[in-house]
Amino acid sequence: MNILVTGGAGYIGSHTCVALLEAGHSVIIADNLCNSKRETVETIMQITNKEVTFYEVDVTNSEAVDVLFRNHKIDGVIHFAGLKAVGESVEKPLDYYYNNIVSTMVLAKACLTYSVNKFVFSSSATVYGDNEVPFVETMRLLPTTNPYGETKAMCERILTDIAKANPSFSVSLLRYFNPVGAHESGLIGEAPNGIPNNLMPYVTQVAKGKLEKLRVFGNDYPTADGTGVRDYIHVLDLAEGHVVALEKLTEGVHVYNLGTGQGTSVLELVKAFEEANGIEVPYEIVARRAGDIASFYADASKAKRELGWSAKRDIIAMCRDSWRFESNNKTEGF
Ligand code: NAD
Ligand code: UDP
Repeated sequence: MNILVTGGAGYIGSHTCVALLEAGHSVIIADNLCNSKRETVETIMQITNKEVTFYEVDVTNSEAVDVLFRNHKIDGVIHFAGLKAVGESVEKPLDYYYNNIVSTMVLAKACLTYSVNKFVFSSSATVYGDNEVPFVETMRLLPTTNPYGETKAMCERILTDIAKANPSFSVSLLRYFNPVGAHESGLIGEAPNGIPNNLMPYVTQVAKGKLEKLRVFGNDYPTADGTGVRDYIHVLDLAEGHVVALEKLTEGVHVYNLGTGQGTSVLELVKAFEEANGIEVPYEIVARRAGDIASFYADASKAKRELGWSAKRDIIAMCRDSWRFESNNKTEGF
């Protein structure tokens, strides 16, 4: 299939492009590079030894998107493009609502105009809010605590309504848990700007000596060791999940958790990182971070049952591959 991958130069998008190309699909990337680099497109081609078509466009721009659909016979869209920093979304809600929602509507409209019937959307476990764990796809969604989370919940509703009104338009809503790790080549991975908000990139930068020590946000949660528990998933497993979701997409709206079903605490992750890489990660316990949930992980059984997909890589592989990328990453003078 010819797949339009929006946000394909980003962290999850780039790994998914590699997986799509390796599965024999053709890839057209549309990315405005607001949180990624053009070289990543070259690197995707280098890893796979396959060509990719790249457009530097903003997918909220309906005219620019129309050109893509006119120029290519597109069979399906995977829509990764979006702004994703939770804290920033509280400060700049309009940017988040505009970018994330308008892009989804513009792309869905182009799909209807050009009879493109497969649409895969990057959603997030954040749409569950503070539900009971494990999170199951059938749960009623609870309000999220920030505009970023609300954009995901709203896009899910918009796409669901469009699919209801247009029965041949098939939608897969993929709710990611906590993506970490990097391609085994060490050539692509997560390279956040500035000081990372997320745990794994923070840990890798401490390991590298860029940051002095990890601050563990609270050890008084009702979890086994008191630190927050999350369902970390290797980005390559996530990428493979997209390929299967697209290939097996049938009419209607399908919602899948993409997680491992396994919870890991902050201190367990630190220990796994030290074991995987033989590097000590100094840390201190500090106060809880506002808005954090104690523990969440997926019920990952639906994707396994219906798509035959489950995550294969364990926390050691996630720590090893994250570190390989960080130690290869020569930006910012390191
Ligand atoms: P990322 O920032 O690395 O990638 C997003 C890409 O989209 C970037 O390359 C950026 O330049 C591009 N982009 C943003 N707005 C655009 C626009 N209007 N037009 C064209 N390109 C645009 O983020 P990621 O971690 O790869 O996340 C991909 C998607 O998955 C996002 O929608 C994100 O919300 C979602 N998601 C991510 C996580 C996570 O923890 N990384 C978890 C759940 C969901
Ligand atoms: N965390 C931490 N120190 C950090 C970053 C994160 O202790 O510098 C904790 C955080 O409180 C949570 C877990 O690590 O329990 C995962 O946080 P992340 O921001 O990566 O994911 P999210 O909370 O958005 O699921």
